[in-house]
Amino acid sequence: MNKPFYDNIVSRALQERSCSENDMFDILQNPEIDLLTLVHAAYQVRKRFTGKTVSIHIINNVQNGLCSEDCGYCAQSKNSQVPIETYGMKSEEEIMEEAKQAYEKGAFRYCMVFSGRKPSSERIRQLTHIIRKIKKQYPLEVCVSAGIIRDHEAKILKEAGLDRLNHNINTSETMYKTICQSHTFTDRLNTLKAARNHQLQICSGVIIGMGEGAPDIYQMANILHEYHVTSIPVNFFIPIPGTAIQYQQPLTPEYCLRVLAVFRFLNPRAEIRVAAGRELYLRDLEPFAFYIANSLFMDGYLNTKGSSHYKTLQMLRDAGFQIQSEFSLDELLMREKKPDLLNSPYDKKIKLKGKKDLHPSL
Ligand code: SF4
Repeated sequence: MNKPFYDNIVSRALQERSCSENDMFDILQNPEIDLLTLVHAAYQVRKRFTGKTVSIHIINNVQNGLCSEDCGYCAQSKNSQVPIETYGMKSEEEIMEEAKQAYEKGAFRYCMVFSGRKPSSERIRQLTHIIRKIKKQYPLEVCVSAGIIRDHEAKILKEAGLDRLNHNINTSETMYKTICQSHTFTDRLNTLKAARNHQLQICSGVIIGMGEGAPDIYQMANILHEYHVTSIPVNFFIPIPGTAIQYQQPLTPEYCLRVLAVFRFLNPRAEIRVAAGRELYLRDLEPFAFYIANSLFMDGYLNTKGSSHYKTLQMLRDAGFQIQSEFSLDELLMREKKPDLLNSPYDKKIKLKGKKDLHPSL
């Protein structure tokens, strides 16, 4: 693609004008797209609206499994055969201790995730208590993901000091019934409306790689823009054995970057988070993703592990980013145990050549 193609998209995104469907389809599919030029184009938009900082999010599974819903991608769904640990809501002490740990690791935001269709009124009461307590003790932003939230519940949570409500749309409206039958896309949008009605920041993300095409991705990115979504976690589907959806779309590092760029161009101001699948699919191109996105999850995802703190922090440091935290990247890296390069648990350890490497013909 020629220079005016990228310039036109950047100019529209900087002016917060919508980009054309055809241009976004080209970004996703056209073999003429030059990856470095695309990353640079998206970076101009990212830098204008979000600078060069990355915010670190740490998920806490406050309640795990035992869900009544049938989301086919989810290890906690009622139909899942995945051997996960299931438990009801953690104790207040455990949640507070984990909020403290998240703060000390440099998290900007602490995300409490509950499995289940929707919270009971008792759960809303418990949540308001815990939100107030965390906000009082730590300078953390608090996000809650608790399923379907009605208007009056959003109001109660906002009054308790909740900063952000998460409820992912996951896929396009067209695709929704192929991934879930126990609730609808409209149910999901109604929760976003409730959050918006009470000035809660909205976090709503997607899962890429469940069989959707370019029109679905375009639809998702547009609807999130329409709902003024502040934060967009872009997950890349990890087909955990035992979940209903085992469709494996080949996700290459290049395709993942193309997808992130579409979300950036159509949501120029949003906090775009490289979420699940970051390590698995981006591989050695991972640092490139942060020239487009400006946020990540550290310490793993809903049911799968991610890379170590040290590796994540060092990757951001090496690529020249700062983090949104009271602590600098250098301070956080100092706190982590420095890798012993000869006996390191990290995968970048120095490996000495053995006899077989020195004499390959023997
Ligand atoms: S995504 Fe949420 S609502 Fe759906 S099955 Fe998993 S825990 Fe339940």
